Amino acid sequence: MATTPPVRIERHGAVAVVVIDHAPVNALSKGVRDGLAAAAASLAADPGVAAVVLSGGPGRFVAGADIREMNLPPDEPFVPDVIAAFEALDKPVVAAIDGPALGGGCELALGCDLRLASPKALVGLTETRLGIIPGAGGTQRLPRLVGIAEAIAMISEGRILKAQDALALGIVDEVVEGDLLAAAIARAPHAPKRRLSQCAVPAGDPAREAAAAAAALKGAKGVPAIAEAVRVVRASRTAAFADAMADERATFLRLRESDTAKALRHLFFAEREAGKVPGLDGAKARPIAQAAVIGAGTMGAGIAVALADAGVPVMLVERDAEAAAAGIARVRELYERPVRSGRLTQAEADRRLAAIGATADWQALAQADLVIEAAFEDMAVKEDIFRRLDRVAKPGAVLASNTSYLDLDAIAAATARPQDVVGLHFFAPANVMRLLEVVRGKASAPDALATALALAKRMGKQPVVAGNCDGFIGNRIYAVYRRHAEYMVEDGASPQEVDAALEAYGFAMGVFAVSDLSGLDIAFAMRQRRAASRDPAERYVVVADRLVEAGRLGRKTGAGWYAYDAAGAKSVDPAVSGIVAAARAGKGIAPRAFTPDQIQRRLLAAMANEAAKALEDGIALRASDIDLVFVNGYGFPRLKGGPMFAADAMGLGAVLAEVEAAHASGGAGSEPAPLLVELARSGRGFADWKG
Ligand code: NAD
Repeated sequence: MATTPPVRIERHGAVAVVVIDHAPVNALSKGVRDGLAAAAASLAADPGVAAVVLSGGPGRFVAGADIREMNLPPDEPFVPDVIAAFEALDKPVVAAIDGPALGGGCELALGCDLRLASPKALVGLTETRLGIIPGAGGTQRLPRLVGIAEAIAMISEGRILKAQDALALGIVDEVVEGDLLAAAIARAPHAPKRRLSQCAVPAGDPAREAAAAAAALKGAKGVPAIAEAVRVVRASRTAAFADAMADERATFLRLRESDTAKALRHLFFAEREAGKVPGLDGAKARPIAQAAVIGAGTMGAGIAVALADAGVPVMLVERDAEAAAAGIARVRELYERPVRSGRLTQAEADRRLAAIGATADWQALAQADLVIEAAFEDMAVKEDIFRRLDRVAKPGAVLASNTSYLDLDAIAAATARPQDVVGLHFFAPANVMRLLEVVRGKASAPDALATALALAKRMGKQPVVAGNCDGFIGNRIYAVYRRHAEYMVEDGASPQEVDAALEAYGFAMGVFAVSDLSGLDIAFAMRQRRAASRDPAERYVVVADRLVEAGRLGRKTGAGWYAYDAAGAKSVDPAVSGIVAAARAGKGIAPRAFTPDQIQRRLLAAMANEAAKALEDGIALRASDIDLVFVNGYGFPRLKGGPMFAADAMGLGAVLAEVEAAHASGGAGSEPAPLLVELARSGRGFADWKG
């Protein structure tokens, strides 16, 4: 196969166009860096070249570093040196930006004397999203263009600007509506040299800079790169350019090796992998022009908003007119908040509201290309709905259920078209949470699944395909995690100690605080449903049942694992301590102390073990999918990369030892997964497992 070079030079009279051509996005891989370095050297030595244009070709510029190479030692030529070589040319260099100029690509453009953009251009220094800082002059050249306060904001948020916004800030010099490359070639010979490295940082308002720094640190969410970025950007005012560049580079290289950056890179690749689903090759998503949602409760209303936000008109179908009206009121409430906070204009909210209807008339379902059922979590209710749906839904409509735990194949069996049935498991609040578990039933057609994946993308959600089992990927593993948290409470830890340990680990909320938020009645109903089939050798903790029996259903009743005051502030409740003490006494358990580290390790191991079983069962396709589920749906800290990544980091030998201890504590159902045993014994990790 003939390969074209990743960088070539085309001559247009005295103007040399350096064309970067490295599919798909012109990442700054080794070959591109080599090509650019060679081009800069040959152009410097060519007296026939009067000016230079850097182009990424139609629709592109340079989208950033090659993130795969970040797991390897740095390899010459380095990006800052390549950029310095272009900046040092004694002839003008013009960047023709016709697509994403992000990270190192943005830095490359900042090394040019003039930046022309098409309306398709996107510009930003997005490195902090990956736990690093710009490492090729971005922290020094950007403040020279836009000032320190703006540079701090852009870099700390990893903000991506559209062409007009970049123009307004002066990051690009002009937005060209017509032929960008022709304009760049015409302008280049007349462009003055403007080496940003030699420009002064504009005088700024110290109060604004301090405020920008404070806001960046406040929004850092524990990402160490933010504080470093703020420090290095602020140094641009006083430090010599060369010294500041050396500091930037050293900081970049140090952060690149950090656990945080490795975890964020892992998630970056996990997101790409998740879209690869076996058996979908060639399957085409069915078009969705109109959707319907059955049940306009908590989830149904949120799902309707998520659909309308993505531009899909939706009809809510309820049991009666009163419930339909209540559903619309719920939808309205969901739009009030972003309007109040200024994230959404009233006009835009009205436009989206107008795309959502509500009715008790089942005939409305005949119009829908996609129906999502979000009624009560009760098999009889769902079967009845799908049976009736079969009679009204249009042929080829995708029929989805938002069930949390129920058997999707049984639901599909209620229709004569099980091939059209998939699970779309949204997370509360459905219009906010990024995770969407797409459940593949045994009869689900590839194009029905492809439709679900395309819909997720349209809604800006992260889809993860799961097989059909009790709780799918997330709730199945979460149930084990919660059970082991309860074992530790019965063994001597207090609920608040467990929660504090989890929050110290980085969870948004501890497991008991989460139970109070979602309501203890949901898990209670699930335990009741499973009671008959539960292995008597499985350890069972009665505390949660006692709480429910005492009317403590969580926040909504003002009491659960904690007590809540009128303002919603939680406190430790002696009544709960009493119920816990009684449970211990009932089993003759002498309480012992747990350190935060012991709690964290035990719960991580319990999750990884159940996750290994889900992998063996084919419920999850790959370990990184499980990481995405927990990071995007369950508040697992992103900076730890997800439970599987964290288990690999802990070492599966150590995880297995912890799982064996958990098994001794939990009994049946907590046995070590054969897959975990096999990986641990062979010194491998989940990342090495390919299914
Ligand atoms: P909910 O009780 O708030 O809402 C259910 C709605 O469905 C009610 O408005 C009810 O009137 C309506 N309904 C019931 N039977 C109906 C029928 N035959 N026809 C039309 N409408 C009907 O419940 P929810 O919390 O929104 O949960 C809905 C589904 O979503 C359940 O399957 C649940 O397991 C699942 N789920 C819930 C959550 C959560 O956190 N609440 C998260 C993920 C999935």
